[in-house]
Amino acid sequence: MTQEEQVLDKLSVIIDPDLGRDIVTLGFIKEMNIDSGNVSFAIELTTPACPVKEEFRQQAETVVSQLDWVEKVNVTMTAQQSAPKSNKNMKGLSGVKNVIGVYSCKGGVGKSTVAVNLAYSLARTGAKVGIFDADVYGPSLPSMVNVKDTSIYQHDGLLVPLEYEGVKLMSFGFVNQEQEAAILRGPMVTQIVGQLLGGVGWGDLDYLIIDFHPGTGDIQLTLLQTVELNASVMVTTPQNLSFIDVIKGIQMFETLKVPTIACVENMSYYECCGEKKRIFGVGALRRLKEMYGFKHSFEIPVMEKLSTMGDTGVPLVLEEPNGLASKLYSDLTSSVVRELSRIKFSQKELPKVEYVPGKGIGFTVDDETSYISPKVLRGECRCAVCVEEFTGEQILDKSSVPDNIQPTSIAPMGNYAVSIQWTDGHTSSVYPYEVLQKLATES
Ligand code: ADP
Repeated sequence: MTQEEQVLDKLSVIIDPDLGRDIVTLGFIKEMNIDSGNVSFAIELTTPACPVKEEFRQQAETVVSQLDWVEKVNVTMTAQQSAPKSNKNMKGLSGVKNVIGVYSCKGGVGKSTVAVNLAYSLARTGAKVGIFDADVYGPSLPSMVNVKDTSIYQHDGLLVPLEYEGVKLMSFGFVNQEQEAAILRGPMVTQIVGQLLGGVGWGDLDYLIIDFHPGTGDIQLTLLQTVELNASVMVTTPQNLSFIDVIKGIQMFETLKVPTIACVENMSYYECCGEKKRIFGVGALRRLKEMYGFKHSFEIPVMEKLSTMGDTGVPLVLEEPNGLASKLYSDLTSSVVRELSRIKFSQKELPKVEYVPGKGIGFTVDDETSYISPKVLRGECRCAVCVEEFTGEQILDKSSVPDNIQPTSIAPMGNYAVSIQWTDGHTSSVYPYEVLQKLATES
């Protein structure tokens, strides 16, 4: 083995916990240079916010130092990401590597609070971050971050974003300080939002967070067609949860191939005398997890300081970097970062699900296929039509499913589930891969 091969062999024991493969196979090792006993190389990650960055560096130094001819190891950590393809044609967005939408089905659930704290939490990891407040009727960014000079000017034909504590910001509230949105009609608003987003010179950003206008109408749809999003985060509250609305939101994003990678139940509980009081009820997150197989769901409690943040203009994760909110947002941040790199790297390795006439619905993992009966699978549907919203009890009478039922379409949803439409006219079935795996094993 050459010296370079020996180093790579040593490094191949380091496994990326999210991608499940070693960092050599993943192509993360770059710029190797060996000068007698001095070894230097870069580990090129998918994001500068990688939560295991330091662990990788230490492990790499340790394993390479084990080679008896090595005297000194110099590891540089870098990140290489590419911008979503279709955004490269938009001058202002061409340097933005990841675009994440934060959305909710109703207003007032804390979507902007989540978007702002998520953005500042990402920035604390060393990433370059921007926030675009797409809420034309009630822009909240101007009150959530205390920007002193809000004058807007252009450079090179693009609006220069404002900045607060290193995060770039743009909101209709900054551009139109007279607050004239209320008199704008729907189609105009739709146009303005798209133009504003594309007309900002965001420069080089690792993450652009878009705080969506609440709901699932034309404004959201147009924005989703204007800019390519990598993923989205859904925000809901226990009491406002209308299950059908939440599902409508997730599916609107899915239709445009944007996976919802995390859901946040905001104002989930109130901590009192060491106890979590669930004043607004329970169950929403459980149902969403069951239906979509979401692995990343977060509960954020009612916190007075999150509420006053709207007045002070300092995001709580900055004001109390070691407080509870910072800890919760850092968990959300690391899930989002990991899930994004998982999506980029492991899309090809998702299980294959296809209908094979005469055999059933084939579920293929690692070249092994098992078949699930279409009638059984249709009977297992956990969608909001087939299962009672809050009790989780099945409404669908399994015996009513025709024996000869077949899927009319099978489409992947993000990297966690498939949606299936059936010959009985049912169109809202969603099956997480975990559920399919279980049914395939039992069949
Ligand atoms: P949305 O963007 O969904 O309309 P906002 O983020 O503007 O909602 O939040 C609505 C109000 O609720 C704001 O006054 C905000 O400060 C407050 N708020 C949001 N999250 C929390 C929380 N976890 N605890 C207490 N107050 C909160």
